[in-house]
Amino acid sequence: MKTVIIGGVAAGMSTAAKLKRELKDEHIVVYEKTDEVSYGACGLPYYVSGENDDLNKLRIRSVAQFEKAGIEVHINHEVIDVDFKKKQLKIKHGDEIFEDSYDRLVIASGAAAIVPPIEGANHDKVHVLKTLADGEALKKAADDAQSVAIVGGGYIGLEVAEAFVTRNKKVKIIERLDHVLTTFDEEFSSMVEEHLKAKGVELYLSQGVTKISEKDNHMLIETEKGHVEADLVVMAVGVSPNTRFLDREQLDMLRNGAIITNEKMETNIKDVYAAGDCATIVHAITKQAAYVPLGTNANKQGRVLAEILAGKDKAFGQGLGSAMIKVIDLELAKTGLGEKEARDAGMDIITNTITSYDRAGYYPNPTDVTIKVVVDKESRVLLGAQLIGEKNTALRLNPFVVAIDQQMTVDRFSLLDFGYAPPFASTWDVMHIATSTIK
Ligand code: FAD
Repeated sequence: MKTVIIGGVAAGMSTAAKLKRELKDEHIVVYEKTDEVSYGACGLPYYVSGENDDLNKLRIRSVAQFEKAGIEVHINHEVIDVDFKKKQLKIKHGDEIFEDSYDRLVIASGAAAIVPPIEGANHDKVHVLKTLADGEALKKAADDAQSVAIVGGGYIGLEVAEAFVTRNKKVKIIERLDHVLTTFDEEFSSMVEEHLKAKGVELYLSQGVTKISEKDNHMLIETEKGHVEADLVVMAVGVSPNTRFLDREQLDMLRNGAIITNEKMETNIKDVYAAGDCATIVHAITKQAAYVPLGTNANKQGRVLAEILAGKDKAFGQGLGSAMIKVIDLELAKTGLGEKEARDAGMDIITNTITSYDRAGYYPNPTDVTIKVVVDKESRVLLGAQLIGEKNTALRLNPFVVAIDQQMTVDRFSLLDFGYAPPFASTWDVMHIATSTIK
């Protein structure tokens, strides 16, 4: 059998590598548009910051290593069309266009950084951060810059902000919405904003960018409310699935172009699968197709998809949209539904927010951890958790992930046998308190 994979990073190469281990005789062909395969984009902010100075550390496996394993990898090859009926692809390589065929197709074409149609958005001092090449260009540009304007206060915008703060640059964040990090509930966004301001970051909220230009060697970023000046600009307004080359009439997609898949990563077309940032997941609580473009999903989906292609009875299952981020000295994490998401979905919920120490209060240097839980009012089953704190916070997310996945009630969770010793927790951990104090 011949499996063709479109896209050679997390989802695509996880599928290829595992499938070859599962089925030695499978003919696996990967087409990748750029000249890079198999890397960890999540490490890019820490390369830009200088905390890791070696871009090679983000490269996981080379083309030569994949080929040695018996996988055919074609870099600088862009798939420009797929005929699902004939099971044929059209591929562009330089000036040449040729065709190939497949028995099974895996679409793992990921997502691209959105560059909005704003005048000046294509200026060469306006950067995005998605690929290794982007990271290299941004790090170099940062060497000569004293200040940066970041358009967008989501995950990538804030990680870039941290990188530039680490490098002692002046950071200005422009956000169209009234808060940064709006995937969290408002009180969490507000805490992040206070922290950013305390670290000298300037925030320009509730203002969309209207025009970008260069003036006297400075970038001038005009907004709906005024203007901001900086030496360079980073556009971090989100990502868009790389699916424009596919026929929307045939392949079911969300409005943003994410390919709709089931728990086995099957699309609506036989023998066509999709995984990673180009596809949806099934949300474990809403049961709807959700777009959660995160590496944690892409890597796991790739591996499970390979097992499915090898004939095993496996499924990626449903996801909770779990995510974590470090913003300078703060750790944040989230799983399941936030209060706003749950209320928007019409759910009858109760919430509880508490703050307590990360360790025993008498042990040196305790710091606050704040946890908010969202609970189904009738069943008291946990639906979501959000956490923020300076230390030992983010990984406290994972017990909540397990509990929500297993549809546990807050009452059971509040008595779980978490380990305890004064340097790590209190006898009643902050997680216990968040769930035991719910009326
Ligand atoms: P991609 O990495 O986008 O790869 C898809 C590949 O397909 C690309 O190389 C593209 O060139 C290729 N391609 C596209 N179209 C075609 C075509 N027509 N023909 C051939 N090839 C094509 N996730 C987390 O979970 N945690 C984090 O902390 C985190 N941090 C991040 C920080 C940054 C700065 C960035 C950019 C991302 C971060 N992510 C994080 C997200 C994570 O990196 C992505 O979810 C992951 O890379 C997705 O992998 P993918 O294989 O689906 O897609």
